[in-house]
This record gives sequence, structure tokens and C-alpha cells, in this order.
Amino acid sequence: MSMLTMKGVHAHYGAIHALRGVDLTVEQGEIVTLIGANGAGKSTLMMTLFGQPRASEGEIRFQDQNLLKVTTHQIARKGIALVPEGRRIFQRMTVLENLQMGSTFADQAHYQDDLTRMYQMFPILEQRLTQRAGTLSGGEQQMLAIARALMSRPQLLLLDEPSLGLAPIYIRQVFRIIKELNEAWGMTILLVEQNAHHALRVAHRGYVLQHGAIVLAGTGKELLENPQVRAAYLESG
Ligand code: ATP
Repeated sequence: MSMLTMKGVHAHYGAIHALRGVDLTVEQGEIVTLIGANGAGKSTLMMTLFGQPRASEGEIRFQDQNLLKVTTHQIARKGIALVPEGRRIFQRMTVLENLQMGSTFADQAHYQDDLTRMYQMFPILEQRLTQRAGTLSGGEQQMLAIARALMSRPQLLLLDEPSLGLAPIYIRQVFRIIKELNEAWGMTILLVEQNAHHALRVAHRGYVLQHGAIVLAGTGKELLENPQVRAAYLESG
């Protein structure tokens, strides 16, 4: 059984038909990327997993559970964590308080061990524990947003445009961390990116979303070499 299965998923914002019959799977241990232009529906696809907006048609299963039947709050407890576009860390809280907030739904018995793991993966955070999160650089805030999500011990990590607006050095670091989380920790990751080149290089498989529908799917390598993908998403950027 796939970890995540979406079948014929439709979603609307009022009159806007944002998803038009999406089929997608994520297997345990994979990095799957979703690429597409602005407004293609990438964020919407991720948000339907949390019921915001709720899929109006189709099927969404996470492991053996039907996600269309549970609340947003229950989904967080079921092991899906989202790092939203724009990071949305708690700016006025310290780095440590942000990490504590991330662990709210997790088994508190693992809290100290989890913190130690975060410091190993993100050494910069340990140096800034008492600093207000809003005073970190953009790249550091992205690290914190990822670490905060990991503190909930997710089985599936959703990353919405993690490289957006970052300096090149942090962009490389974000993709290195994505790879390391997958290879060293076995984390399953669904990655939305406009930076198609980096995303397809790091992903096992990818999907191209256009106007709310999947128009192409393949391995990262296949999509990197696909002439349509190259013309639309690689050569222009
Ligand atoms: P971006 O990279 O710009 O975030 P995206 O591929 O993630 O693009 P979505 O944000 O999912 O695209 O948007 C898909 C469509 O739904 C667009 O037409 C967008 O204008 C519309 N949309 C997104 N969020 C809302 C909302 N909260 N209310 C109304 N319409 C929305």
C-alpha cells in the first residue's frame, strides 16, 4: 500500500476549480516532487490533505485511513507535517519555543532525544536557542520551520516551496537537508517547488501540475530530460 494516495481529487475555492481530478501516490521512503507554474494548484493539493479546502470529489488515503473523513487536527496527529510556504514560524517566540510548539502532538517521552537530533541536523539552531525566531535570517528561519515540523515526528513531511526567497547558499543547504532527511532518517517527503531543477535532481519521482491537473509524471531523471519540462520549467529559469 502506498503511504499517500490521491485519486480523482477535485477542490474548489468558491467558483475557482483549483484541482481537477488529481491522481498521485507517495511511497514510503520516497522524495516526490510536484512542480508547476504559479497558480497551478500545488499549495492547494497539499492543503487538501488537511481539509483546507476539503476535496469536493475523489479519494485521499494516508496509509490505511481515509483523510476525507477526519478533521485537520486529527490529520496532524496522524503523522503528516507541513512546512508552509513563507515558513510561518512564530516570530516573537524563541527558537526553542518554536521547537517546543512543534512537539505539541508528539509523544513527550522523545522530546529531549528529538531536540538532540535537531541540533545535529541544524547546528545553527542550537547556537540560537534563546534568540527570537523573527531575528533569524531567511535561511535560518527555513531551517527552523523544517525542524519545528520534524518535532511532531511525522511519517510524511510536506515542504511547500522551501527554497523560495533564499540566498543561493541556503538554497543548496535546504536541498542537502532534504536529501539527508530522506537518506539518513528514512523520511518520506512531498516537495512542492518552483525551483524545478534542484527539486527534480533530489527527487525519486515527480509530477507536473498544470491548471489543477497532473500532465506529466516520471522519475526525477526522466522529467529532467523531458523536452516539455525543459522548455517550460528549466530553461526559462
Ligand atoms: P503558488 O506557487 O503561486 O502558490 P500554486 O501552484 O501553489 O501557486 P495555488 O496557490 O494552489 O497554486 O492556487 C491554485 C488556484 O487557486 C489559483 O487560481 C489561486 O488563485 C486559487 N487560490 C489559491 N488559494 C485561494 C484561496 N484561499 N481563495 C481563493 N482562491 C485561491
